Amino acid sequence: MTTIMQRAIVVMFIVLSWMSQSTAQQKYDLLLKGGHVIDPKNKISAVRDVAIANGKVAAVAAKIDPAEAFKVVDVSGYYVTPGLVDIHVHVYAGTGEQGSYAGDNSVYPDGFTFRAGVTTVADAGCAGWRNFEDFKQRIIDRSKTRVLAFINIVGNGMRGGKFEQDLADMDAKPTAEMALRHKNLIIGVKTAHYAGPEWTPVERAVEAGTLANIPVMVDFGINHAERPLSELVTRKLRPGDIYTHLYSGLRNEQVESGKVNPSLWEGRKRGVIFDVGHGGGSFLWRIAVPAMKEGFVPDSISTDLHIGSMNAGMKDMLNVMDKFLAMGMSVDDVILRSTWNPAREIKREELGHLSPGSVADVAVLRIEKGAFGFVDMHGARLRGTQKLTCELTIREGKVVYDLNGITRPDWDKLPRDYKQTGDARWDAVTPARPVRNP
Ligand SMILES: [Zn+2]
Repeated sequence: MTTIMQRAIVVMFIVLSWMSQSTAQQKYDLLLKGGHVIDPKNKISAVRDVAIANGKVAAVAAKIDPAEAFKVVDVSGYYVTPGLVDIHVHVYAGTGEQGSYAGDNSVYPDGFTFRAGVTTVADAGCAGWRNFEDFKQRIIDRSKTRVLAFINIVGNGMRGGKFEQDLADMDAKPTAEMALRHKNLIIGVKTAHYAGPEWTPVERAVEAGTLANIPVMVDFGINHAERPLSELVTRKLRPGDIYTHLYSGLRNEQVESGKVNPSLWEGRKRGVIFDVGHGGGSFLWRIAVPAMKEGFVPDSISTDLHIGSMNAGMKDMLNVMDKFLAMGMSVDDVILRSTWNPAREIKREELGHLSPGSVADVAVLRIEKGAFGFVDMHGARLRGTQKLTCELTIREGKVVYDLNGITRPDWDKLPRDYKQTGDARWDAVTPARPVRNP
């Protein structure tokens, strides 16, 4: 009897200690091991392990015990960065409207983001207050990418010339009201594509931005002597407002001598933000290269993704970042301007870094060395020797993109009848179905 009871106690002890050990093993859902972490907000640029639990960054440290993680991924040789934040995209697709950024000129975000390491985008004014809620239910609510938005000062948004030139539809009050109604989604006000000589679109956008306490992003439209760039950045915009299409050369960003327009330096001193917004027609080597040599670097790197840029010189976020590497910017600096800086610009300081407790949006990037070429809006090429590739993207703690299967088992080491290989604790691509109890 005693022996049986003793045995039972021993067995119980073993089970309990196994249980507690397995709980310890499951402290983290996912561990990215041995990568070079670049987290500019936290001033980290070094080999670090990154542990993730419950969709959040749980720990970043020189050595984290793999036994503490449910799933371990070797990312040595790669950069591990915050999920990239692209604050200039056009993603109001699906309405069927032709020739419109609230329609066919836009793209669905998930097809372009995760494969480039992007986890957050901000739509740059496709929708105004009249159609924002349609945009929300059609795209924002249905995308795996985190989609935020600059609301257009035009009530109808970017539906084409006849709407975008209509000063009567640029109303600050309903724009600000909509922004305040969707504070969690609307991070700014956009004015764009205006062809007339009036300041009205900029003034109304700033008025709406002031009412809603959010920044304004300006695409300055057609250049007019009546409303010069110098006045925009030194008087009209508030500190924190964003001038996009910095290297387009379309609005005197560069003066006759080849230097950066001195008013941009003055604007920068005032706190105006300068963004790339590459797009299909807003980035020229003959503007960007001299500006970079002069030290006028962008605060944020962004794509201006749409159907006119996706297959032209722009391509994707990483290709735009590559262009800055090719012009001599360091990897750390490129990451800063693609993560923490844009997150701060749109006042979403919970994003763009890997602080423990923050959402686990992560990009794992590789730098390839070789002979590459990068093309501007007029088809001119700059040669480069480095290219960023996205190996792995994690959104809210789960793998959403894995280029070379670095999180995956080899097929020939699996049972003959293998099925879904992932687990919902770390995988959003092929999570195994929950096992049913017999
Ligand atoms: Zn745009």
